[in-house]
Parts: sequence; C-alpha cells; structure tokens
Amino acid sequence: MRINVLGIGFDNLTMREAVERAMELLHGEGTHYVVTPNPEIVEVCREWSEVANAVNQADLVLPDGSGILKGAAILGTPLKERIPGIEFAEQLMERMAKEKRSLYLLGARPRIAELAAERLMARYPGLVVSGVHDGYFQEDAPVVESIRSSGADVVFVCTGAPRQELWMAKNAAATGARLLIGLGGSLDIFSGMARRAPKFWLDHNLEWFYRLCKEPWRFRRMMKLPLFLRHVRQEKRERRSRNQEALRQEKRRLDAAAREARRQAREEERELRLRQREEERENRQRTRESRQRTQEEQRESRRKTQEEQREIRRKTQEEQREIRRLERAQRREARQRANIQLPDGREESMRNTDTTGWNAQEALRLQQAQQRQRRRGRRRWRWWLRVPAYLLLVIVLSVLLAECGWLLFSDLCAFNREVQKTAIVQVDTGDSVKDVAKKLHEAGLINYEFFFRIFAAFAKAEDKIGAGSYELSTEMDYRALIVGMRNTSGNLNSAVVRVTIPEGYGVRDIIALLARNGVATEAELTDAAQNATFDYSFIDNNDHNLARLEGYLFPDTYDFFQPERATSALNKLLSNFERKLDNWEGELAYAETRGYSLNDIITVASLIEKETDGTDQARIASVIYHRLEGSGDRGGTYGLLQIDASLLYVLPDHTGPITAADLETESLYNLYRNAGLPPTPIANPGAKAIQAALTPESTDYYYYGLAKDGKHRFFSTYREFTSFLASPDYIGN
Ligand code: UDP
Repeated sequence: MRINVLGIGFDNLTMREAVERAMELLHGEGTHYVVTPNPEIVEVCREWSEVANAVNQADLVLPDGSGILKGAAILGTPLKERIPGIEFAEQLMERMAKEKRSLYLLGARPRIAELAAERLMARYPGLVVSGVHDGYFQEDAPVVESIRSSGADVVFVCTGAPRQELWMAKNAAATGARLLIGLGGSLDIFSGMARRAPKFWLDHNLEWFYRLCKEPWRFRRMMKLPLFLRHVRQEKRERRSRNQEALRQEKRRLDAAAREARRQAREEERELRLRQREEERENRQRTRESRQRTQEEQRESRRKTQEEQREIRRKTQEEQREIRRLERAQRREARQRANIQLPDGREESMRNTDTTGWNAQEALRLQQAQQRQRRRGRRRWRWWLRVPAYLLLVIVLSVLLAECGWLLFSDLCAFNREVQKTAIVQVDTGDSVKDVAKKLHEAGLINYEFFFRIFAAFAKAEDKIGAGSYELSTEMDYRALIVGMRNTSGNLNSAVVRVTIPEGYGVRDIIALLARNGVATEAELTDAAQNATFDYSFIDNNDHNLARLEGYLFPDTYDFFQPERATSALNKLLSNFERKLDNWEGELAYAETRGYSLNDIITVASLIEKETDGTDQARIASVIYHRLEGSGDRGGTYGLLQIDASLLYVLPDHTGPITAADLETESLYNLYRNAGLPPTPIANPGAKAIQAALTPESTDYYYYGLAKDGKHRFFSTYREFTSFLASPDYIGN
C-alpha cells in the first residue's frame, strides 16, 4: 500500500527493495515506468492534476528528497528511506550489466547523452547503451520510434520534471521498452558535465543546498520546500480533524447501536416475560381443567358404583322376598296337609268301623281323641287369632326398621341426596368429631349427626381427620367424607399451635419462629425450604437456595400441628400467597405490560415493607419506580435505588449505621453499586406493601429521609433532600 503525501502515493521501500521491484518489472510483461518525485514536484502536482495523474499512475513512485521523508513522518506515516533517483539508477545499471540488458538515454543537451553513454558502458561492463537522444525535441514520434527501433529494455528519461513524467505517461507503452525511469538531471552527472554534492553534504541531506550554491538560479524552485512543509502541516491538521470527526461519527454510531441493542434486549425481555406469564396462565388453566375432569370422572364413577349397589340391593331384596314368599307358601301348604289328614283319617276310620263291634276301650279312646281334637281345635283358633296381630306387628316393625335402616344406610352411602352440591367445610384445630359432624350436617352433607359419629368411632376418624379447609360434596359417603378431610400432617388428636408471621420477616426469621413454636426443627424447615418440591409457578424447584421462597411466604396467622411436616408447614404459607394473588390478578396483568414480572412486584413490595414507617407504602413505591425508570432529578443517586435494607440482606449480622466500607460490599443486593432491583425479594411483604407496589401513589418524589418523629419526609429535588439532611429534623443529626 502506498503512503499518501499531499495527494502523491509513495511506495514504502528500501533502496534494495526498490531495485528488486524494478528488476521484477523488467523481467515481467508490458511497459512500466518509475518516477522519483521530490517536494518540488509534489507541489507542482498539487496545482497540475495532469502531472499528479502521471505520477500516481507510475508503477513505482520513489521518494527522492529528504523533504518527502520529513513530510511523511509529520503526517504520521513514515517512509522507510530516501531513494535518490541517481543512486537508484546506478544500482539498477549494476544489475542490468550482469544481465547484459540494453539502455536508452533520453534527455539533456545535445552530446551529453552520448558522453554519458560512453562513461556508463565503461563503468558497467556488460551494459549496452542501444541508443541516445537529447532532451530538446519538439515531436515525440521520432523519439519514440528511435527508442522502439533500438530495442532497449530500459529508458532513462532525463528531460526534467514535470516534462519527463508527462512524457512517460503518454509515450511509455509506444516505446516497447520494459521500464522507463524519470531521472531529471542525472545524465549531466553521468556524463561528467555536472558533479554530485560531496559525501558530507549527501550524508547530511544537504545536497539541495550544495546545488543551490552551485546553481543559485534554483532558489525560486527551492522556495517550494518550505511551502511543501507548510502544506504538509496543514494536511496533518485537516487529517486530524477528519479523523476526529470520523471517530466522533463512529462513536455516535456505536452509541446508537448500543442503545438500539439495549432497547431490543429490553423489548425481548419484556416479550419473554409476557410469554412466560401467558404460559403460566395457560398451565394453570390446564391444571384447573384437568382437575375438573378428574372430579367429574370420580363423580361419574361414584354414581355408577352407587347405581350398581342399589341394583344389587334391589335384586337381593326381591330374591329374599321371593324366598320368604315361597317359604310361607310351603309352610301354609304343610299346615293345610296336616289339618286335612288328621280329622279326615279319623272320620274315615270311624265310618269304616262297625259300631256294633266297639268295645268300651275303643269308645273311651274315641272319646279322648275327640276331646283332644276339640282342645286342639280351640288352641288352633287361639293361634289363628294371634297370627294376624303378630303379623301386623311384625310388618309394622319391619317397615319401621326398614325405613329407619334405609334412611341411615342411605345417609351412610350418600344415596338419595335431594340436591347434588359441593360445600367447603372448615375443620378447625381443636374441633372434635362431634363438631365435625355438626359442620357436615350444617353444610347439608349428612342427615344424621349421631349416625356419622357412630360410624366415625368405628372408622377411627379422629386419627384421620385434620384441621383444614376441605371441598366436599353430597355424593361422598361417610367413608369418603372422612377420607376427604384426611390430613397427613396432623389429626384431631394432635396438639396445635397458633403462630402469627409478622410482615417483613425473611425466610430465615420465619424458620426460626416456626422452630421456636415446635412446628418442626430448624434443620427440617431449612431442608424443606431448599429442597422440597412446591407446585407453584412462582417457585423455582431447580433452585436450591433458601432465597427461592423469599417474598412468597405470606405473613398471616396460621395454625400448625405440633409437630408438623416441615414441607406441609411452609406449604400453608405458600398456598395462602397463591390464594391472595387472585385479589390482584388485574393489577398484576397491568404491571406485566409495564415490564414488571410477579417477582419484580414482590421484590419492590419487599423493599417497601422494609422501608415503610407503616403509613407511606404507596409513596415509597412512587420513589422506587421513579428511580427504576430514570424519571425525575437523579441528583446524587446516579439512578440507583440505594436502599440500605437490601444491602443488610447480605450482611445479616450487621449492627449500627451503614459505613463507607459497607457500601463497597460485592453483592447484587448492594443497590449502591448495582442498578435496578436486587435478584430476589429481600423479605416477605404483607398485602399493603404488595398493593402499594401494584398501585404506587402519583408523585414527583425522588428522595425520602427519616425524620426524628419516625416518619419519612419526601422530596422532589436533590437540593431539597440535602438541605433536609442538614436540618435538625433529620434523624441522623
Ligand atoms: N532538459 C531537457 N529538455 C528540456 C529541459 C531540460 O533535456 O526541455 C534537461 C536539462 O538539460 C537537464 C535536465 O533536463 O539536464 C534537468 O535537470 P535539472 O537538474 O533541472 O532536473 P532535476 O534533476 O532537478 O529534476
């Protein structure tokens, strides 16, 4: 690549490399030409574009003159070394001589070229000077033809600048030579008509001065050297300002690209959150539908089972009735047979007996038999009197008993419920089976409390039923009701403790509180908090940090068994949180559109909970959102939340005021160093704080500070805020 000095591109080569390149051109195809501009020629080029084109189109542009090297250095693109045309020509001729190449000398006054030819051939044995021509010609064509007919490989064109450059650009190809080199007054020197400066002058780059001394008429031409340097400095300034402008533009472009990338990232993040929220909602909907389907199927299967049971019972009763009817018929038949045979047999025998042959004994026997017959007849009459009464009684009793039994049995098996419905039954800690039976009766789920209690006693229901809220239905029989109120964590016989979780407690505080109340050990609760699976969309079961529950253990009053499974105890708090979420469904969806996820909202709520004096939740929320969204007078906050409570979350053992060293803590919870919200909520906020995070007050406050009366003062500007910090009202003074 060429180095540009005031519009002329110079090849950055050493003398050796330049000669090598010239030899390559000589060995190659086509015609090439070489120029050796000095500052004076560069200045000419600035004013004469045709010359500039001729120079720049050359195949080799070599810097002849220390002024060019100085100019290149000033422009910050230094050239390797100065290559005086005459020295370049000498080294080239050495190589040409070795290859027995031919040379044509064009330029200088008549006879000079011939003289130079003689001396050069003597100096470089092997070099062939195939032709010469002086430099004072009018027509190009004869000269071109002379060169062509000489068959020279190289032409030294020494007619002075810029004539030689223009001539080479125009005629080089027509000469048929491989290489043409513009060398100014070199022929005068080769011929011995002029001398180069002594070595001292050359070594100190003073050749120009030597020539000025020898040829004072050059003064005007050399005056172009300071002009050249002035132009170089001017070019440097312009380049610098162009570079700065380019840098500024590049920076602006990069800033715009970074802004766009940030905007896109925010956009994508928001879309991702919306998608997640949508998926969660769909999942919930699917879960709900599948639960409903399962319940539907269970109800259907129960209904079928009950129908089958009823059918079996009906058939059994019919069969029993049939058996009883057959038995009665058999008995009746048997009795009829007995009644008919005995008297008729006697009568038959009496009829067949000859009365004259009767003896006294026979008569007595007959008499006794007749008496027995009469007695039996009387007894039979009494029996027949008693039977209807007995039967009536039996029937009445049977009907009554059957009716009662059927009613109780129906109640037990949940038959014949007049209305199919579900009801929520709340079993409280301390309830007995009697209380439970009463609640079931009041809910319309059973008809006979006493019978349920009898059944419950046999079914050991006290060991199964536990405190809780249960959704039960009229289609459930006694056993199903008891199973439906089953609680594996504790039952009606278990001891119970009532614990109130204060708002703003962290996970660790809650675990300690439950452990103190004997719900479970700290180790069990910690293990459950870290590792148990909780089926809620807002809990990440792949995360095993305690902080995964932070914010979602809803502060409230709970009854726990003593002891209770740790997972069950924590689940009570989480399920309460999930129930409470229904109250804010609309506000949460709106927050989502503003780019705040559920986790963001609960995090904001936890910050509010830790900061509030109990009355100003919504106002603190407005300050947090102003800082998050970058509106308002950022003053000394740099848009950071700078909330101490978040920093203290990772310094649980910290006491006293926050120090400068504390502010340097390396943590994402350090909101003096990190923009935006902390990675998780820092406590478990109550309903008021969550409501404030969802519906912040509309203010222009950006600062607040605690006054001595325990209340916060709010300010819009940094100036107002700092003057409050200096006032005696500020709690720190
Ligand atoms: N010259 C030439 N034809 C012209 C004008 C000048 O041949 O029409 C020759 C002149 O005789 C001299 C050379 O070109 O030999 C110019 O030498 P000068 O020292 O002025 O050139 P420089 O080496 O400074 O480029």
